[in-house]
Amino acid sequence: MSLKGKTAIITGSNSGIGLGVARELAKAGADVVLNSFTDRDEDHKLAEEIGREFGVTARYIKADLSSGEEARALITKSGKCDILVNNAGIQHVEPIETFPPATWDRIIAINLSSAFHTTAAALPIMRAAGWGRIVNIASAHGLTASPFKSAYVAAKHGVVGFTKVTALETAQEKITANAICPGYVLTPLVEAQIPDQMKAHNMSREDVIKNVMLDRQPSKEFATVEEIGGTAVFLCSDYAAQITGTTISVDGGWTAL
Ligand code: NAD
Repeated sequence: MSLKGKTAIITGSNSGIGLGVARELAKAGADVVLNSFTDRDEDHKLAEEIGREFGVTARYIKADLSSGEEARALITKSGKCDILVNNAGIQHVEPIETFPPATWDRIIAINLSSAFHTTAAALPIMRAAGWGRIVNIASAHGLTASPFKSAYVAAKHGVVGFTKVTALETAQEKITANAICPGYVLTPLVEAQIPDQMKAHNMSREDVIKNVMLDRQPSKEFATVEEIGGTAVFLCSDYAAQITGTTISVDGGWTAL
């Protein structure tokens, strides 16, 4: 599955799933554009390292995706955009009644509206090139719900709906749009929660992972960033040309329950 000659823009890719997806796309030969809201030396070094490791062109472009204008500018600054991976996302856990309205707005902006803005900016570029792949990183929470995650669950269901509309508007072109729905993935964000959970439940690391974090994940194993990245590579391949407007769960059986 060579993606040589394609340019992929991955939002929110200086850590976790976004970085894993960027690495797998680069491994498959794509040039990559990394992104986050920071502009540190280490962000640019991350891109340099990927470029060196996989022999592709890799750049880092800062854009704060809570702003629609910055989201659109990320795409236009990149120049080429054959593959767009909308991955940037944040979380906040609190009951609806006390959920801060500003936090609701921020989650909807970063997790949902940014995908609308990047897609709107990317489609003319993909149409001009006659080919495109849009991969939205939704979540098991794009298909199911959990209490106290109202904004996140609403945004992720929105991403799944937006993916379907994107697919219908591009159905007769060589452009596809799909959503990957991961269950729990062991990213630095999730790893950091384990020591606190061990203390709170007075449990071993293994028991916290199995009985607390992976309570709803029947496999009792985390998905990995490489598995999410590999799924994205498949969706970008010619084998997936007729796969559009759908979701692929990578959740160890969560949504089969
Ligand atoms: P993470 O915190 O490691 O990564 C989030 C990325 O988004 C980071 O690169 C961060 O810098 C970036 N980001 C945050 N705010 C931004 C902003 N305003 N502008 C630009 N970039 C911004 O978390 P992750 O676990 O890798 O999550 C990545 C995506 O995967 C998210 O959309 C998340 O909802 C989704 N997801 C994660 C899991 C999981 O278990 N880790 C499960 C399902 C879905």
